[in-house]
Amino acid sequence: MNLDDLPIRDDLRGKSPYGAPQIDVPVRLNTNENPYPPSPELVADLAEAVRESAGELNRYPDRDATALRAELAGYLGHGLTTEQVWAANGSNEVLQQILQAFGGHGRTAIGFEPSYSMHPIITSGTSTEWISASREDDFSIDPGKATAAIEEHQPDIVFLASPNNPTGTAQPLETIEAVLAAARGMVVVDEAYAEFAREGTPSALTLLPEHPRLIVTRTMSKAFAMAGTRLGYLAAHPAVVEALLLVRLPYHLSTLTQAAARVALRHRAELLGTVDALRRERDDTVAWLRSQGLTVADSDANFVLFGRFPDRRKVWEGLLERGVLIREVGPPQWLRVSIGTGEEMAAFRAALEGVL
Ligand code: PMP
Repeated sequence: MNLDDLPIRDDLRGKSPYGAPQIDVPVRLNTNENPYPPSPELVADLAEAVRESAGELNRYPDRDATALRAELAGYLGHGLTTEQVWAANGSNEVLQQILQAFGGHGRTAIGFEPSYSMHPIITSGTSTEWISASREDDFSIDPGKATAAIEEHQPDIVFLASPNNPTGTAQPLETIEAVLAAARGMVVVDEAYAEFAREGTPSALTLLPEHPRLIVTRTMSKAFAMAGTRLGYLAAHPAVVEALLLVRLPYHLSTLTQAAARVALRHRAELLGTVDALRRERDDTVAWLRSQGLTVADSDANFVLFGRFPDRRKVWEGLLERGVLIREVGPPQWLRVSIGTGEEMAAFRAALEGVL
């Protein structure tokens, strides 16, 4: 028997799962992780937190993750409170809960592509119709065209990733405000990479007080270097959080996840201490790629989209043969490299020189 023989939902037939390759090579620069592992002190604190929680694992976790949400609100600042913050297993689960509450059969979500591939996948997974709008050649979003697309399609949900994956492009607040003014549904600003933004790129969090249909999503997978913990969160109006309580599974966030995330927040000076080094490495990578005569998108994230290669598969494979895994993603002819340590980026540069 194969997949087609199963009575699977018609709208899932022929779809492909999310599939960034997980290949064990010396230099892994393909899923926008933070390359710096936790320090021995942080590992010890994590282990202690797990030890303390372990004695209570016969009990369900705090269903509302109240202590963690209070601490996340404190981290975000902007006067946010526990009631305005929600958390789940990665921002992917946060996005899925948003789609479950505000999307669904007969509803639509719009995104500006190229963008994060999971937005359409989560959208169709919840039987919501995906509408693809486009970006400009430099991967920016034209506010006039964006509002026109929103007025035409009247979507229930608008996705704006800022900084955007895979292009690294951040959205000016004016574009987000224009979209908020045009949209009658929810506007989700996916800020998974917010901490990596260059100076002068403000967060959409500043818009929350005026915009009750705005949702800003964040994650501990990137700047916080906690991808394995699976902790994503959002900030929004308290009523939005109430809506998500209707669709979340009870006890979705394990005791161990909540404990680990709280330890990571306590150690944020160490964890976020890597962000400056990664930004510098990113800016150096952009400059180096340009010095090689390549086209490179400006990046506010911890990855860089570069090209253009008539046969990008060949370049990707050439790098892999040299032990460097990057990502074949985005528009044809472009490749994306996540920013690693100085040594990893030196290996990437040497490998790319070899390929080219
Ligand atoms: N949003 C964007 C734009 C991303 O690139 C990613 C991770 N690749 C996520 C959300 C999801 O990350 P996580 O589920 O680990 O929080």
